[in-house]
Amino acid sequence: MNNSAMYKISYGLYVLTAREDGRDNGCIINTLEQVTTSPNRVSIAVNKQNYTHDMIRQTGVFNASVLSGDAGFEVFKHFGFQSGRDTEKFVKDAPLPRAKNGLIYIPEITVAYISGRVWQEIDLGTHTMFIADVEDCDVTGTGAPMTYAYYHANVKPKPQKTEKKGFRCKICGYVYEGDELPPDFVCPICKHGAADFERIE
Ligand code: FE
Repeated sequence: MNNSAMYKISYGLYVLTAREDGRDNGCIINTLEQVTTSPNRVSIAVNKQNYTHDMIRQTGVFNASVLSGDAGFEVFKHFGFQSGRDTEKFVKDAPLPRAKNGLIYIPEITVAYISGRVWQEIDLGTHTMFIADVEDCDVTGTGAPMTYAYYHANVKPKPQKTEKKGFRCKICGYVYEGDELPPDFVCPICKHGAADFERIE
């Protein structure tokens, strides 16, 4: 089996935002699909380790901002590779706009945002799938949306030459040092599992 086949699926990339008890948070997902048009519903799958996941389970609402091809790696680092449990991802002196549901959306480096209200959820083990009614949406930019393939080819940093021996995360570049990668290993930076690691020769 060649897991690189999974990178050929034309996912988009999204900043998923939620709000609970006056606190805003966001993370990166590649798992948004429109599943029905009438009613207009989308599905998202969110890793249970993400703080945003818990907020959506509690509040039942989210915004997904559709990233544009102009989004740089710092956006993925900021929202994807650190946890809202120990970092404040939105600073008070640079307020971002809010959609009708009161949740932040990202107005720059995006092409659209979608406001969802959870209709049903499915336990997928590591993730929860939320199927949601689209309560509101708008276009924020004119460029092409970011795809996962474009991210892998052009946005994420190229692997550095390294003296280290071990395994490199293909998603974020994190290096695990050691001769064997435990099969249940989870990347501490981006939360992807052992299947997304490659041996450094
Ligand atoms: Fe990683």
